[in-house]
Amino acid sequence: MTPPADTPAMQAFLARFGDKLAYNVPIARYTAARMGGTADYLYVARDGTPHDIAELIMAAWQAELPVRVIGGGANVLIADSGVRGLLVVNHLADAQFGDWGDGRNVRVSSGTSLQVLARWCAARGIGGMEWAIGVPGTVGGAIVNNAGAHGDDMAACVVDVTLADMQRGIHRLTNAELEYAYRHSALKARQDKRFFILEAHLRLPQRDKADIQAKMDEFTAYRKRTQPSGASLGSIFKNPVGDFAGRLLESAGMKGYRVGGAQVSTVHANFILNVGACTASDYYTLITHMRDAVQAKHGITLELEIELLGAWG
Ligand SMILES: Cc1cc2nc3c(=O)[nH]c(=O)nc-3n(C[C@H](O)[C@H](O)[C@H](O)COP(=O)(O)OP(=O)(O)OC[C@H]3O[C@@H](n4cnc5c(N)ncnc54)[C@H](O)[C@@H]3O)c2cc1C
Repeated sequence: MTPPADTPAMQAFLARFGDKLAYNVPIARYTAARMGGTADYLYVARDGTPHDIAELIMAAWQAELPVRVIGGGANVLIADSGVRGLLVVNHLADAQFGDWGDGRNVRVSSGTSLQVLARWCAARGIGGMEWAIGVPGTVGGAIVNNAGAHGDDMAACVVDVTLADMQRGIHRLTNAELEYAYRHSALKARQDKRFFILEAHLRLPQRDKADIQAKMDEFTAYRKRTQPSGASLGSIFKNPVGDFAGRLLESAGMKGYRVGGAQVSTVHANFILNVGACTASDYYTLITHMRDAVQAKHGITLELEIELLGAWG
């Protein structure tokens, strides 16, 4: 069923963009954990330019339609009730390699997969993205979450980010304005979520191609040894200062604990796997249980690394 277009602004928006949208679409296939309800309107961006996506999103804002953007859905738990308004799934991949001054040498669209970017860089003898070889999701999500691994992260390479929002239109934010910290940015903290990242400029070092490949192979092997395969959202909680969430959860007896179709991995206690017919509610109930168990055993309150999207009571 098509959601009603009950205002002139909404009718104008649908007249312009309606043929690009799908209606009442299940979201699960667009998320790494394979969960979430339906989106009223869905736009999957695979071609065009980031500016085309920004135009569509800004028109939706003008029609007062709520909008949320995801990339790989690898760091968001979407409620079983889904997403009201428009969900944009950004898979528009593109990068240019050159010299834009100040050492900026890569311009990458936000919908580019991190793993693809790592490979594109490696093929050109550009290092600094080796850590991303095993990290699912897109550059956009990584900019928001300050994704990283093996002691490296986005904060170390982002020079500036181009984004669109209602207040300022299309503009740039510098690395300093992003206020990066461990798995944190000013964008992740922003409550309104009414922004769209178009692209980013990165500053990355030239390195020997064989060294880059060796590092990526080492990181891939490490991930295979220490992390489970299967549908998940990666690390659920941030590591508290001086400790590891996985260690705390394991010592609180969480490995293998199950709620419905959600199960704590037996390989890594900070991962929850969708082991079949898992609902977002199962996943969240298990998260709550894990946090309570660590609080009771260690007196430490774990902080979520993932974000909750949709209506969560
Ligand atoms: C198996 C597994 C392993 C993982 N390992 C790691 C790891 O080692 N290190 C790590 O840091 N993370 C890890 N993660 C988490 C995840 O891969 C990263 O956080 C990744 O950067 C998320 O990118 P995404 O595109 O999937 O973001 P999404 O989950 O789609 O979105 C995350 C946030 O960014 C916003 N967003 C995304 N794109 C845009 C855009 N273009 N404009 C505006 N907002 C946007 C969303 O609205 C949301 O708020 C792992 C996840 C999995 C499933």
